[in-house]
Amino acid sequence: MIDLRSDTVTKPDDEMREAARTAEVGDDVYGEDPTVNELEARAADAVGKAAALYVPSGTMGNQIAARVHTERGQEVLADRESHVVKYELGGLAQHADLQVRTYDADRGVPSPEQVATARVAEDLHRPGTGLLCLENTHNARGGLAIAPERIAAAAEAARERDVPVHLDGARVFNAATALDAPATDVTDPVDSVMFCLSKGLGAPVGSMLAGSEEFVERARRVRKLFGGGLRQAGIVAAPGLHALENVDDLATDHENARLLADGLAAVDGFDVQSPETNIVLADIEGTGLETETVLERLRDRDVLASAFGPTTLRFCTHRDVSRENIEAAIDAIEAAFGAT
Ligand SMILES: *Cc1c(COP(=O)(O)O)cnc(C)c1O
Repeated sequence: MIDLRSDTVTKPDDEMREAARTAEVGDDVYGEDPTVNELEARAADAVGKAAALYVPSGTMGNQIAARVHTERGQEVLADRESHVVKYELGGLAQHADLQVRTYDADRGVPSPEQVATARVAEDLHRPGTGLLCLENTHNARGGLAIAPERIAAAAEAARERDVPVHLDGARVFNAATALDAPATDVTDPVDSVMFCLSKGLGAPVGSMLAGSEEFVERARRVRKLFGGGLRQAGIVAAPGLHALENVDDLATDHENARLLADGLAAVDGFDVQSPETNIVLADIEGTGLETETVLERLRDRDVLASAFGPTTLRFCTHRDVSRENIEAAIDAIEAAFGAT
């Protein structure tokens, strides 16, 4: 099987398994796991923040951030296509008692004017805006790598109104790679950032939530509240240290995504969005088939993709698929649907 459903399917390599086996550990709830402590320090450095917290998943990282930044009943501003809105089970309401005010914006980033308009000032009738949440790369819009200037302009508009800014940077190193910029350029304008070790970077478990010392101290309490305080977590954090070394490999995934997109563009009925990172979206309406039928035909030829909308498929490249795998996948898809 050539599994292009997600970069979360990457399996830990031998080095990561060995790192897990030999990790020095302690009780991380007591702050005594040296491996976790090292990972948190390195992760904070990588995104230019004062501190970072190891969390079991990206979703938990985003939810903790929302809880820490806001007060009960406030509004969160988020793109209507964002992960926090579409794929976190309404957690902002469940975990932080927040109401979401969505906006629709080019590349998922609101203009300063949109921030000003969407922001709600607290008064007798309105709860006040507690947080702006941005996403980079933007998953549902096709793995878009958002330029730091765009992030900074939106963040500044929020900050001017005392609204803090969280970045869902699940794939922030993919963004930095595509923009050929240091990750810190992308994360500088925001107050907090979450990124995943468990996606393209290849770790089996975990994400990092970074921000100021005070933010992370509060986040640590909320992590415990949400049941995410782990004990000898160094076992799963050790592969994360290796994952941070894999950032340079993401460029290969992006090359493979471009190769795949070029191949898919020639397939009958496929309308392909030009990829910026490791995600390729294809609209398959032109095949005249249901998404599930298209996925089944791919599966019959040993290629896996994800349904990503009524007529959209997502293909995601990652470190466990090679250039040869991509070429084989293109051949298989052409054979299934015909090509121009
Ligand atoms: C995957 C993802 C998350 C959540 O990460 P999990 O570890 O799967 O919970 C959050 N935001 C974006 C944009 C993602 O792609």
